[in-house]
Parts: sequence; structure tokens; C-alpha cells
Amino acid sequence: MRFEAFAVENIPLIKKGDDIAQVICERTDILDGDIIVIASTIVGKAEGRIFSLEGIVAGAEAVEFSKHTRFAPEFIQAVLERSKECLISSPVLLVEMRTGHICINAGIDESNVEGEMLLELPANPDASAEYIGKRIESSTGTQVSVIITDTNGRAFKLGQTGVAVGVYRIHPLKDWRGQTDLFGKELKITEEAVVDEIAGAANLLMGEGNGGCPVVIIRGLNLRSQEQTTVKEMYRSDEEDLIKKSLKYLRDRV
Ligand code: GDP
Ligand code: MN
Ligand code: MN
Repeated sequence: MRFEAFAVENIPLIKKGDDIAQVICERTDILDGDIIVIASTIVGKAEGRIFSLEGIVAGAEAVEFSKHTRFAPEFIQAVLERSKECLISSPVLLVEMRTGHICINAGIDESNVEGEMLLELPANPDASAEYIGKRIESSTGTQVSVIITDTNGRAFKLGQTGVAVGVYRIHPLKDWRGQTDLFGKELKITEEAVVDEIAGAANLLMGEGNGGCPVVIIRGLNLRSQEQTTVKEMYRSDEEDLIKKSLKYLRDRV
């Protein structure tokens, strides 16, 4: 078994309005079944999701939270405005976004953006993945999958990894339930988070700094789905999510 991962070379600095599908297709040959992994940073840039803190007025909650963090009240306000719910408010801001994605600072980045500007995640990363995927398919006559990634930390372990925040034509989870192990025992709970595994692999080539390498092609994994897919398939429901429940309990305790 073998798969291939390679970076698309010579991608320029992306700006608002750029056609990411075209940028990719002009620089590499796409084959049927390729999984095109794209850093959310350039999708956000192309969608013009760059903003500054100027003009943001911090509300009472943001001012209160700022007393216990290193962040300016205006930055916290920007985070809260993009969140459905704040799960941890100090010393970091862990929030649930309207899409269901849970992350630090609502995924707002200052790295790889010019000057004092900030960059936010695409509003609907599944829709962005679909838009780019369909344009690649129509210009190349192939069938592909797309994964939009961000770099996130995890609970329990140091270190950040690439994770999927939006998908097109690839199911986030591979269900092993009902299959058997080497000794014939039935697997009862194993669902493999394939899109996060792919995002992590692609992120190895992207890096986090000035590598200028926001697009990676994964070739040789047979994971394209003919069905519509969404990253939401992998978020636990509020009821099932023990960690989220515990965080809310701690937050609301007093
Ligand atoms: P994130 O993980 O989506 O937040 O993206 P990062 O900021 O970690 O960037 C991932 C990779 O994309 C790094 O190699 C960056 O140097 C690169 N990158 C970010 N923005 C651009 C851009 O506009 N053009 C190019 N060519 N590379 C970029
Ligand atoms: Mn990011
Ligand atoms: Mn990154």
C-alpha cells in the first residue's frame, strides 16, 4: 500500500477575489480521485475575510475576559462575535463556532497576513470546499475531493496539527464497525477520522511559517464519495460530548 503527498509549487500570495481553483490547476496536473488539501488561510484571503481591530467596540463581556488574558478587549470582541458559545475564557479563549467547529480564538490568525491585519476562517468551509472542488472538476474533467484545513491544538497533548474544517466529496469518518480484526473479532466502535489524518499529513508539507506552501495533493487513497459530504458528520452532538459538557459545567459552576 502506498499514497503520495506533494505540494503545489509557486503559489503566489493570495488576495481577495483570486480564483484558487485556477491557481491550482495552472500549476499542477490533477488526476481522478486526488484529494486537494488547502490551508484555510488562503481560502479566507481569497474570500476577503481580512479585518482589523480598528472600529471594533468591546462589549462588557469582552472587557471582563480581557482582564484574565493577554488579549485586547477588541480582539476578544472579534472572537466572541464569530462564536456560538465560549467554553473557556481564560487564559485562552476556546469557542464553538456557528459551524460546530471548536477552536482557540475562533480560528482568527495574525500569522501569514500583512501588517496589523487579522484573518478569519471562511464563513462556511464546506461550501468553500465545494465551490473550489467543482471548479477544479469542471476545468480538468476529473472527479476530486477537497479538504480545507486549519492548524489546531488538541486536548491532552502539546503541539498543533492540521485538522479538517471543511470537506467536499469525502466522508470525514471511515466506519470500521462490523468489520473484523486480525483474529475475527468484530470491531464495535472504531470510526477513523480520515480527513484529520489527511490534514495532518498535508500539514507536514505546508508547515506553519514562510514556506509559502498552502496546497497539497494527496494521491492514491481511494476515498472520494459520490455523495454530498460535510465536516459536520464528525462533530459530536452536545448530548454525546462529555468534554464539552464538563467545560460548560465548570464555566457555569458559580
Ligand atoms: P493555516 O494552517 O490555514 O492557518 O495556514 P498557515 O498560516 O499555517 O499557512 C500554511 C502554509 O501556507 C504555510 O506554508 C504558509 O507559508 C502558506 N501560506 C499562507 N498564506 C499564503 C499565501 O497567500 N500564498 C502562499 N503561496 N502561501 C501561503
Ligand atoms: Mn489558522
Ligand atoms: Mn497552519
